[in-house]
Amino acid sequence: MTWSMWLVPPFITSVFFVLGVITLYWSIYNWTTAWYEARNRPVNTKRVQTWIGAGCAVIAVFALQLLVRDSQLSWTFTNFQLLILMFTAYFLQLRVPYWMICVLGVGFMFLNGNVAQPLSWVYMIVFAAFYVESYIQGVHMWRWPFTRYIALAMINGAILWGIVKLRLNLSWSTVMEELINFFLLAVLMYGYFRIQNQDRHIKDRLFRSANWDALTKVQNYAAYDRAIGRQFYRSVSRHHDLSMIMFDIDHFKHVNDTYGHLAGDEVLRAVAKTVSVTLKRLDPGIALYRTGGEEFNIILPNYTASQAHPVAQQVFNSIVNQAVAYNGQEISVTLSLGVSELTVKDQTPLDFYKRVDANLYHSKRNGRMQITTTPWQTDISE
Ligand code: GH3
Ligand code: MG
Ligand code: MG
Repeated sequence: MTWSMWLVPPFITSVFFVLGVITLYWSIYNWTTAWYEARNRPVNTKRVQTWIGAGCAVIAVFALQLLVRDSQLSWTFTNFQLLILMFTAYFLQLRVPYWMICVLGVGFMFLNGNVAQPLSWVYMIVFAAFYVESYIQGVHMWRWPFTRYIALAMINGAILWGIVKLRLNLSWSTVMEELINFFLLAVLMYGYFRIQNQDRHIKDRLFRSANWDALTKVQNYAAYDRAIGRQFYRSVSRHHDLSMIMFDIDHFKHVNDTYGHLAGDEVLRAVAKTVSVTLKRLDPGIALYRTGGEEFNIILPNYTASQAHPVAQQVFNSIVNQAVAYNGQEISVTLSLGVSELTVKDQTPLDFYKRVDANLYHSKRNGRMQITTTPWQTDISE
């Protein structure tokens, strides 16, 4: 039996086409976000989602229409166009400027060779309005979202199919059959997208809780461990500089004992926030990790120790100059820091870590509230 013998009804083909486009979209999306996450780069999921979705949608619409243009069958993919419209506007909430919708619409009519047809213009205008309505509904998610979704789909679907019927003299039975198919496919798309989306939310939550510290909202030890391994081997093989800053809050037990554990938590949150803001302002490529109770590490790719030292100084100043407010009290905080750079003697990330840790220990032993940097040695006491 050859493929041409497989008499699969068009509706079944449509079901698999719709599922296929959504699955393709989710696969590319998951692959892209995993790629970013593996490199510890912040990923704007909303933006990735919209651009990949839009890419899939535009390719699907134009590719399909190229297949059937100039033929009597140019209406066969109308349902796909409508579904892809709802996919991008309602589910992905891709915000397309109004002028771009018009440009795409006219471009599509050129592709189809029917710019001279007044009915095509009506079709295009209804289509554009359908896009805007779907987008607004997708963004607002008012009550009874499914009922609204299906009502919007069927009203616009009926108008658009009415125009196609007029222009191509299709029979009522064909149009009705197509509308029923459209209804079933729209329901299927809704369900399938919701399931996939839920799956994705669970994955995102797991990823966040595995790599981010719930108290301070900075990355945790697990994230640090992976990042330092990757940065270490990358810097060694490419002969790039790499530095690390480690800091520990001075007399933190005293804060807990005097003001209570909750006040201690607040101090941790405030320190993490202030340091994050300071680092972001200096260089977004520098990452902060909470590696222990009140210990933090900062990884500085492409920094020598003498370049990392001023960064440590800024971190130090930002904390010293700011008291943490808690229950009407002002809690002042100081830090001890250790800074060092990767050297040729370091065989593993642990060798590197030990030197930074030794420098932090040196700051502590020497009276706290200071920075120890090697090999570019400067002790700063303020
Ligand atoms: P040093 O200047 O030598 O660092 O003195 P220290 O008091 O800071 O000493 P140490 O580092 O040994 O104390 C850490 C304390 O931090 C002990 C622990 O109770 C407290 N701690 C660890 N994690 C948390 C947390 O999540 N919240 C609060 N409130 N306290 C924490
Ligand atoms: Mg401490
Ligand atoms: Mg400590």
